[in-house]
Amino acid sequence: MPEYPALTSIPRRLLLGPGPSDVHPRVLAAMSTPLVGHLDPAFLELMNRTRELLRAVFQTQNELTLPIAGTGSAGMEAALCNLIEEGDEVLIAINGYFGERMYEMALRCRGNVRRLEAPWGQVFSPEQVEAALRERPARLVAMVHAETSTGALQPVEEIAQVAHRYGALLLLDTVTSLGGVPVEIDRWGVDACYSGTQKCLSCPPGLAPITLSPAAREKLNRRRTKVQSWYLDLSLIEKYWGQERIYHHTAPISMNYALYEALRLVHEEGLAARFARHQRNAGALWAGLEAMGLSLFVPRSHRLPSLSTVRIPEGVNDARVRGRLLNDFNIEISGGLGDLKGKIWRIGLMGHSSSGDNVLRLLTALERVLPDEGFPVTPGAGAEAAAQALRQD
Ligand SMILES: *Cc1c(COP(=O)(O)O)cnc(C)c1O
Repeated sequence: MPEYPALTSIPRRLLLGPGPSDVHPRVLAAMSTPLVGHLDPAFLELMNRTRELLRAVFQTQNELTLPIAGTGSAGMEAALCNLIEEGDEVLIAINGYFGERMYEMALRCRGNVRRLEAPWGQVFSPEQVEAALRERPARLVAMVHAETSTGALQPVEEIAQVAHRYGALLLLDTVTSLGGVPVEIDRWGVDACYSGTQKCLSCPPGLAPITLSPAAREKLNRRRTKVQSWYLDLSLIEKYWGQERIYHHTAPISMNYALYEALRLVHEEGLAARFARHQRNAGALWAGLEAMGLSLFVPRSHRLPSLSTVRIPEGVNDARVRGRLLNDFNIEISGGLGDLKGKIWRIGLMGHSSSGDNVLRLLTALERVLPDEGFPVTPGAGAEAAAQALRQD
């Protein structure tokens, strides 16, 4: 008889990677709420409240705002496959791994997809996007707000204006920004936006909040052809989440409980306070890393607070350091993707994981591990600089 250990054998980690982030105990508790049916009046009520809370966190009045059943990539796929029809001109801005994923998906939607590229770690200027659209207009421009592969934060507002001036809709990935960094869908003029639950919302992975502006919805209504994905067809999903309540798929009830509780936590904290907390703790992390002699990959002007990227010093073994952090200190951070593999570490301070205590815990652990790799660190230097930054704020 093989032995099947109980889940109590799963270690308690501190999740400081690119997601999932630590889940608030109230969200974990919410998931053990007894189930009701997916058309139970109590659940329908909860769906309405969830949509209201989602509009608040997206800062939008968009009617079509709901959580897709699936992870962030399902949100990406839903946004793209609903808004692209065969032959549509599409421009994808690619400055990291998730821009590449969008490009890959957009091709499968059979758009005429063009790439606008910037080096990983950099962001796009409105002029760059304008030049590309002047050369050849597009129906849709898609980009990533918070590139989790590089730690760069893309300014959006002016690019949305450029897109509109050239008759394009703007689609934005906010998987690593929603709930941690300001996302202002209506004020910026973003037409379609999706996110995921497991990053700055600090929920388990499993739902993808999405929102469509009236203009994007119009595009959806005027499609000549059906969306090729039945499961992700927003016009069908909306019939379940909207007034009609027509069964489409069985909503993942427990995940919706979790998202509702996570959004209640965002509401209680307040968006401004939550963004300030993410900024403060990231600032403390950056001060601590620099005081230890490490250097950050992204210039401060467009550095993302929810995910920091730090250069791995020459001669330091990437996998061994991460292994020791995990095994000796129960802390998860992540390595680089693509060309950045072995060159950077990615440190997430997202949602519930973004706290001063966690910053100090990570810096203290790094101070213990790095000297064994031949990278000398003055004991306490990083933690002291971070503590000082936290005090000053
Ligand atoms: C994590 C992430 C995704 C994909 O989300 P999954 O939940 O892993 O499917 C998409 N875009 C960005 C920017 C991400 O960070």
